[in-house]
Amino acid sequence: MWSSICRPMLFALVVALGVAHVHVLEFCQSTDPDCHGHDDTKTNSPLSPQTLTSRCNVSNLIHNLGQFRVSCKKLIEAFPIDEVDGNFVRTVKNCIFSQSIPTPLKGPLRLAAVSKDVIEGILDLDMAVTRSDDFLHYASGGKLLPGSVPLAHRYGGHQFGYWAGQLGDGRAHLLGQYSNRKGEIWELQLKGSGRTPYSRSGDGRAVVRSSVREFLCSEAMYFLGVPTSRAASLILSEEPVLRDQFYNGNVKKERGAVVLRVAKSWFRIGSLEILSQSGETDLLRKLLNFIIDEHFPSVSVDDPQKYLAFYSTVVNETAHLIAQWMSVGFAHGVCNTDNFSLLSITIDYGPFGFMDSYNPNFVPNSSDDEGRYSVGAQADVGRFNLEKLLSALSPVLREKQQKQAKIVLKGYIDVYQMRIHQIFKEKLGLLGEEEDDGYLIALLLDMMEDTRSDFTMTFRQLSEASAEQLHNRDFTQMWALADLSSHEQFSEWLNMYLHRLSRQQNDSDLDRQHRMKDVNPRYVLRNWMAESAIKKAEMNDFSEVELLHHILSSPFVTQAAAEEAGYAARPPWWAESLNVSCSS
Ligand code: AMP
Ligand code: MG
Repeated sequence: MWSSICRPMLFALVVALGVAHVHVLEFCQSTDPDCHGHDDTKTNSPLSPQTLTSRCNVSNLIHNLGQFRVSCKKLIEAFPIDEVDGNFVRTVKNCIFSQSIPTPLKGPLRLAAVSKDVIEGILDLDMAVTRSDDFLHYASGGKLLPGSVPLAHRYGGHQFGYWAGQLGDGRAHLLGQYSNRKGEIWELQLKGSGRTPYSRSGDGRAVVRSSVREFLCSEAMYFLGVPTSRAASLILSEEPVLRDQFYNGNVKKERGAVVLRVAKSWFRIGSLEILSQSGETDLLRKLLNFIIDEHFPSVSVDDPQKYLAFYSTVVNETAHLIAQWMSVGFAHGVCNTDNFSLLSITIDYGPFGFMDSYNPNFVPNSSDDEGRYSVGAQADVGRFNLEKLLSALSPVLREKQQKQAKIVLKGYIDVYQMRIHQIFKEKLGLLGEEEDDGYLIALLLDMMEDTRSDFTMTFRQLSEASAEQLHNRDFTQMWALADLSSHEQFSEWLNMYLHRLSRQQNDSDLDRQHRMKDVNPRYVLRNWMAESAIKKAEMNDFSEVELLHHILSSPFVTQAAAEEAGYAARPPWWAESLNVSCSS
């Protein structure tokens, strides 16, 4: 799949479909009451811009959870709510959300990890707040803030190619929207917080291992520059949760955990599909108008072509997202339509994986027998999901618009190819465009596949090696390049590459290295790294989770602690035998 995409090719000129989301935000506007509300020393005198900025940055954090306000009001007012109450499993119709109260976790709670970047930078909370009992209970579903009406979202989805009917938030609760001091609106959601009407046969819980993975990976992806939901905190409990991790009849007692995660929106392709499939066209239109109004500033709600423009944007952004996944060797693992965000961010981390050895057939999810969601299949799966989105939009598109939307969808793979070509050129430090660039990229990937070279470290070491080192094949400290250089076509490729670099005007070798190091991470969350941290976390030792969280917050910077831990070294022998399943 990958090779067919990266082979030398003439890229069709594609008209940019839609405009990337542009959120123009005024940082801490003086009209924002949150800018002043928690400042005990406030006076009526006007604040200078400097004072305002420094207050917003430092002293304006919320020190007491009691002053933190989230609200589902906007969502509740915008849509009809499920008329039935209670967390019992049922088929739900004619609504977008059901009210659902989280079920508190049993036993003592422990804060296993917290993201300062999210807590302070998104939620405006002082980190000290996270050390309070109130926070432990709030961020695990045991305490609601006054006026809070938590919601579970009704959605459906195509799972592994087939319509699965109603799915929904079976173990997640939307606590509300938070409007931060930067003027951004974020939705707070608990995952693992108990049963809802959408739990089907599930227990509404998430276990420690999957929660550690979600916490670490969503934060790591953010710092890799990949659009994603974020994780604020990870709380572990003593509540026993039974799981058959490898679906082999070996049921084990694990422990319940909750991740407090945030995103600008949690709406998915499946959010629209369920309405379309149930013939709830008015509600489909309502939800679409809401999403466009709130999240697609480039699309005007008054535009008669708005649904088409919305679709074009999602097609375009999904192509970009998947290209970014590929640029870091990330396989989501469960690319069902219910796990594909309408805002084209990475959501619902489950049996994902970062490739070690480069292999387009890499399948991170051991339950995915057919390899439907292999890393190399993701671009095609993206098209499948966008086809399903188009079907969901059909009831609100006129015939002509449906034809236009099909043309937009046809352009998807070109957008993807253009983006992937651009990204891999950047990964190789190439400036401008030359005829053989596609071949240079494709041959490198072919050699990497043949030699099972490490995806992350091959690109990283190409960034770290000087042209002279490359020329001399001085790979003593460079294990991934040493692997690659065993390929019979390596010399041919290297000559081509060095010649290509030498033709770059106004470029120095140091500049090239800097550029490349900024886009080729040294550290990604490899399964073996997550596994090792999980083993300790399960024994209530969170030191490795903390270390990984810290290191993966600067994945492009060489760090002594990471080197010591072997995070840039050849993966240990046991890494290959690791299995990650859907069980979570
Ligand atoms: P996922 O594949 O994790 O995205 O989940 C697919 C669907 O199954 C979603 O509707 C989830 O809410 C639901 N689900 C997964 N695990 C559980 C669980 N333990 N309890 C209830 N619902 C679950
Ligand atoms: Mg999901």
